[in-house]
Amino acid sequence: MGARPLLNRRLAGLGTTIFAEMSALATATGSINLGQGFPDTDGPEEVREAAVRALREGHGNQYPPGPGVPELRTAIAGHRQRFYGLTHDPDTEVLVTAGATEAIAAALLALLEPGDEVIALEPFYDSYAACIAMAGAVRVPLTLRAPSFRPDLDELRDLVTPRTRLLLLNSPHNPTGLVLTPAELAAVAELAVERDLLVVTDEVYEHLVFDGAHHPIAALPGMRGRTVSISSAGKTFSFTGWKVGWVTGTPELVSAVRTAKQYLTYVSAGPFQYAVAEALRLPDAYFDGFRADLLRKRDLLADGLAAAGFRVFRPEGTYFVTADITPLGETDGIEFCRTLPQRCGVVAIPNAVFYDNTDAGRSLVRFTFCKQDAVLTEAVDRLARLSPL
Ligand code: PMP
Ligand code: GLN
Repeated sequence: MGARPLLNRRLAGLGTTIFAEMSALATATGSINLGQGFPDTDGPEEVREAAVRALREGHGNQYPPGPGVPELRTAIAGHRQRFYGLTHDPDTEVLVTAGATEAIAAALLALLEPGDEVIALEPFYDSYAACIAMAGAVRVPLTLRAPSFRPDLDELRDLVTPRTRLLLLNSPHNPTGLVLTPAELAAVAELAVERDLLVVTDEVYEHLVFDGAHHPIAALPGMRGRTVSISSAGKTFSFTGWKVGWVTGTPELVSAVRTAKQYLTYVSAGPFQYAVAEALRLPDAYFDGFRADLLRKRDLLADGLAAAGFRVFRPEGTYFVTADITPLGETDGIEFCRTLPQRCGVVAIPNAVFYDNTDAGRSLVRFTFCKQDAVLTEAVDRLARLSPL
């Protein structure tokens, strides 16, 4: 082939995702993997059995309908009604996707023109930068800074230009654990209405808010017609490998996203869709128990990291803790995470890879706590014995 690079310029530089890289490193070195966010215990047995039943009875073994099986769309609408009092028509206002990842991709590909500006909370979840790039749009970071990671709403207002088309939100926020307050959400919503912006909101950690409740921005005045809400079964039900996600919004927005989604995967995960429909109808005790369990694990890991000498930013939501390595006498999180497996058999994720303004994340690293207690305890014991480089 000639001199022209094979990979097109929109994808140039994206490389391998940090999650794949760090999980491969964990496998190669036999380390405890507190990097990629996946639980080491599967979700509820009755949900797994529902998937087996669907497979055996032939539900979803052939192409399900493009928007998702009606049982799941109805269950998604029911879940939004039950937890947030929001009403959605399952036929026109709900779309099932291949995880939240496809929902994000389809939403951005459907709604953006090349050159449009997208304001997103930085550090960005990794697929945001990639999907904005694939849409030919321009990402504009609103940097969340330690220690509070609270967004500066005046700065947000200043970032909006005539080219801004969309605000890409994520609350609870991966990797910082920030949960936007009702007042912050109201300010963002007011700005979106005033400047006529679309909002795509990634709420996959909706059931992991440790203080107070999750508030969908779609419920705020003026937001229904401009908000695409995204969630996923992976986090809430601890089946990240099933890749069942969804989009909710007005018929116009959902139809736009569906147009892109049809040509990405058309459909996915037939039998799992039936199982997730049952999962969404689990009693409140399941959701309360899940959150309580992760809250306990959060404190186990956060206390252990603090005892090991890290500066810990205790998250308000998600299953990730961000910690600063500066007190350990280290400065570069990328270097720290690349050498940590050899040094003590633990894998973490360097937050710097989620920033454009890398200085804001240079010394920050992320650990997940969706692991068994004994695994978390062993990891912090190893980290406490870490000797200087
Ligand atoms: N958004 C965020 C913020 C995430 O942390 C993840 C990772 N699970 C996803 C989207 C992707 O979700 P899914 O596995 O359902 O594609
Ligand atoms: N969302 C998971 C995380 O943040 C990773 C998912 C993935 O590997 N794409 O760790």
